[in-house]
Amino acid sequence: MKSCAGKLLEVISKPISSCRLCGSSDLDLILDLGTQPPANSLRASCEELLESIPLAICRCQQCTTVQLTETVAPEHLFRDYVWVTGTSQTARNYSQTFFDHVAQRCGRDPLFVVEVASNDGTFLQRFRERGHRVLGVDPAQNLARVAEADGIPTMSEFFGLEIGRRVTQLHGHADVVIARNVLPHVPEPNDVVAGIAHCLKSDGIGAIEFHWVDKILSELHYDSIYHEHFFYHSLHSIDQLLKRHRLTLFDVTESPISGGSLVAYFSKTSRQTSSALTEKLAWELDRGLASLETWREFAMRSLEHRLQMKEMIESEIKIGKRLIGYGASARSSTLLNFCGLGNRHLVCIADQSPLKHDRYTPGTDVLVVSPERALAERPDTIVLLAWNFKDEILQRLSDVGFHGNVIVPLPNRPQVLRI
Ligand SMILES: [Zn+2]
Repeated sequence: MKSCAGKLLEVISKPISSCRLCGSSDLDLILDLGTQPPANSLRASCEELLESIPLAICRCQQCTTVQLTETVAPEHLFRDYVWVTGTSQTARNYSQTFFDHVAQRCGRDPLFVVEVASNDGTFLQRFRERGHRVLGVDPAQNLARVAEADGIPTMSEFFGLEIGRRVTQLHGHADVVIARNVLPHVPEPNDVVAGIAHCLKSDGIGAIEFHWVDKILSELHYDSIYHEHFFYHSLHSIDQLLKRHRLTLFDVTESPISGGSLVAYFSKTSRQTSSALTEKLAWELDRGLASLETWREFAMRSLEHRLQMKEMIESEIKIGKRLIGYGASARSSTLLNFCGLGNRHLVCIADQSPLKHDRYTPGTDVLVVSPERALAERPDTIVLLAWNFKDEILQRLSDVGFHGNVIVPLPNRPQVLRI
């Protein structure tokens, strides 16, 4: 593989000096994953060099929120935003369940429903089909156009208090405001929650969905830490955020998105707390999801994991094995950079998405190709970087007659499977 040198593309970032949620300067460093370029910045050429930015998480002593120590300007993270909700079968199926959960908790109709970061409008479509009035807000213009074409009115904006005010001036206050998987991705969540509070009718309800730290901690998903994810929320830290805006949690449900998410329901006027919420909050306390000790242990285990991964891969190379990776996701970028693995270890990385082909991974410079091309390299060993799709990929490998070792990095300890 040729060595890479060329023009440095500058990315604007700055470290935080206080908690993004509560403003406290009492922050404890939890885990330092080194300096890394933004995880989704695959490049067409090795000549393009991206600036490496510190990737580390800290925990606020005051409000317990775990967050990145560095803020990358959102325009560097979301300019090539290509995730489209409607292309995921899991998301499409779940949109019906989500609708049912929200409708059960409203108890009246017709509703006016506003969705923050509405993507292509897949979730609002379920409300519209039943005669409710809907409005999406999403900064990605290409997605807003898709949603509009499907009958979902959409404002192409970054949502916050100012846009919340504009929404109410133009359309009135909302019975329901939804924000799915958006709060962890914004550097100023107080502005988003202030906008939500402004939009809500006094008896309206809000629903915030977020990737829950439980799985990250219990299965060691340190690879879900990257610059787009500013926050790693527990129900406790979401509760703290909502309280700052006089919003009160009253219920919670589970969601299959991102391998384990929660939906927190809240309102301006206090409602009866559900037993599910009481149980989940107690469970979090019992497991220590918001505690410093738990996060310190997570950091120790992540450092051990890095040693195990490196040892496993280098011992394969030492006996002459030829290795490829499988899955060029943002998660795999964190894992490769943290473990110090790159084009010295992997011949290439296979990925299903044609958008990623003939591009180089950020910071580690491994060429991404189609699975067919990768297997034509006759690898002895495959490193299953997209380990969260393990069953699906193992099936595909077995269908094409691959025989050899498969290294599965996570959850928990790395494992070698022989297929
Ligand atoms: Zn804080």
